[in-house]
Amino acid sequence: MTTTQAGLIEPFNALVIRDVEGKPKAGFDKLTFADLPDNDVLVEISHSSLNYKDGLAVSGKGRIARRLPMVAGIDLAGTVVRSKVSEWQAGDKVVVNGWGLSETEWGGYSQFQSLKSKYLTRLPQGFTPAEAMAIGTAGYTAALCVLALEEWGAITPGKGEVLVTGAAGGVGTVAISLLAKRGYKVVAATGRESQHDFLRDLGATDFVARAALAEAGKPLQAERWSGAIDSVGSNTLANVLAQTTYGGAVAACGLAGGADLPGTVLPHILRGVALLGVDSVMAPQKKRDRAWAYLAENLDRTKLAALTTTVSFADLPDLAQAICKGETRGRYVIEIT
Ligand code: NDP
Repeated sequence: MTTTQAGLIEPFNALVIRDVEGKPKAGFDKLTFADLPDNDVLVEISHSSLNYKDGLAVSGKGRIARRLPMVAGIDLAGTVVRSKVSEWQAGDKVVVNGWGLSETEWGGYSQFQSLKSKYLTRLPQGFTPAEAMAIGTAGYTAALCVLALEEWGAITPGKGEVLVTGAAGGVGTVAISLLAKRGYKVVAATGRESQHDFLRDLGATDFVARAALAEAGKPLQAERWSGAIDSVGSNTLANVLAQTTYGGAVAACGLAGGADLPGTVLPHILRGVALLGVDSVMAPQKKRDRAWAYLAENLDRTKLAALTTTVSFADLPDLAQAICKGETRGRYVIEIT
């Protein structure tokens, strides 16, 4: 172990995906500052998080990294150590969500990371670094989804039911918490009856079984949802669209059940139902700031704590396997040490 001129200690810990006999394989590694990319801001990372995409990358079940070696982790929270640009100074608290981290840019599963300054967001007011990672990409995407439905004019508190699919997952649990705080009647679609009490505590008032939406259904079904947030895709999304009320909308952000969309245009052309696509990775900074401000205002901190599990860096490989099997619940904060 050596200390650099700036007083930083190397080598440090990172989870790196490398090419092993033609396949991406993740493992803990020691890096030095010379190994990091040549970007304009160096951040010491205190916390990261686990998202579905991280699960795919770390378990090797999905090809997320587009070049290797790659430091995984699509989220990070930490403190600026060194900056070549005037907007950021040593000591500034920052978060990064998406922007190609773990795909084309080295990500948050490392004690230090060198980052492009344009990707940094100031730690949102009212949140600790750990809370910002409890929200992470999944939670900030949930906020983008609720905002998309509200701005479209599809949903209004106190009017109609809003469905959340993949309810016990990261996007789902934050979406339920946000919607309930805003005064919506929230229905949770989940494959796990064992999670009903947990989801009820977050604000769900009724439940739909995951299996009830998983098979191909009729193109138009009984109208029930004024809006929906879908992180599942495939038949589930097609059925949700077919059950959405006249003039309603569905915010689609995920593919936990499949990337296909085997539906018809009928809900759109006969009921004016809108399918609103939500992307968090390349969302412009203004949209991010709006989502974080919305979270600061509308996310109950007690519920955030209830849906969060904090784990050590060493737990990450096992958790990556678990999230891919749909065995995790809510959000996971990773303490980076
Ligand atoms: P999680 O794994 O935490 O949540 C997904 C949930 O979906 C599970 O908890 C489970 O909920 C349900 N589920 C799992 N497998 C299946 C299946 N085969 N069929 C139907 N439902 C299933 O993941 P995240 O919340 O982190 O992400 C959810 C999805 O959203 C992912 O596809 C992810 O890639 C996507 N995403 C997209 C973003 C974007 O920018 N567009 C950003 C963030 C996430 P239950 O047990 O309650 O049924």
